[in-house]
Amino acid sequence: MKKSFAVIGLGRFGGSICRTLTEEGMEVLGIDVNEERVNEYSMIASHAVVGDTTDENVLKSLGIRNFDHVIVAIGDDIQASILTTLILKELGVARITAKAQNDYHGKVLKKIGADQVVHPERDMGRRIANNMASNSVLDYLELSAEHSIVEIAANKKLSGNTIMDLDIRKKYGLNIVAIKRGEEIIVSPQAKETIQSNDVLIVIGNDQDIDRFEKKVL
Ligand code: ADP
Repeated sequence: MKKSFAVIGLGRFGGSICRTLTEEGMEVLGIDVNEERVNEYSMIASHAVVGDTTDENVLKSLGIRNFDHVIVAIGDDIQASILTTLILKELGVARITAKAQNDYHGKVLKKIGADQVVHPERDMGRRIANNMASNSVLDYLELSAEHSIVEIAANKKLSGNTIMDLDIRKKYGLNIVAIKRGEEIIVSPQAKETIQSNDVLIVIGNDQDIDRFEKKVL
């Protein structure tokens, strides 16, 4: 179903959200105080308007309450981001996602009622650092503070073994949810599946258990 989104702040982050949602076929309104940014996105979003969202009347006149989801992607101006989020909440917007510049900002956004707070720079930094720190971890998705999904390149030690041989669930509490083998993806592989040398294992579990598995077998 086509959902309606409003993206406030058309910087690098908000702009990218705006573009991707539009490509996904969603109805997207882009809002920014900066006219140049708005002009740039008027070709991309369904609609783009100039407006200062710290002004309640601006948000009201845009009918912001009628959007399914509003994203506050205001960058450096933390005060404007907080005030905008507060007004959106007061106006009864169904779902608010707000971008935080730092942990304190994130805490305040959560406290005043943002449904979801995202820390794109921090999270992307972690993700890239995790990939760089390990030779075998190709990609990494943080599910919670303690759980992740990681892509692990199978090495010589692993290849030739079946999943049953590795006994990874019992020994490490981890689950192999899929195996990437060239173009092929084996979803929920069977215990008898033999791991091959160029396989990429997609593993879900507790971070400490993933660490233990990495140190032991990779
Ligand atoms: P990024 O790091 O995502 O590039 P920026 O700080 O460059 O973040 O972008 C934030 C955008 O938010 C800018 O285009 C800015 O004009 C816009 N913005 C800032 N304050 C307001 C406001 N009060 N109302 C609407 N848009 C705003």
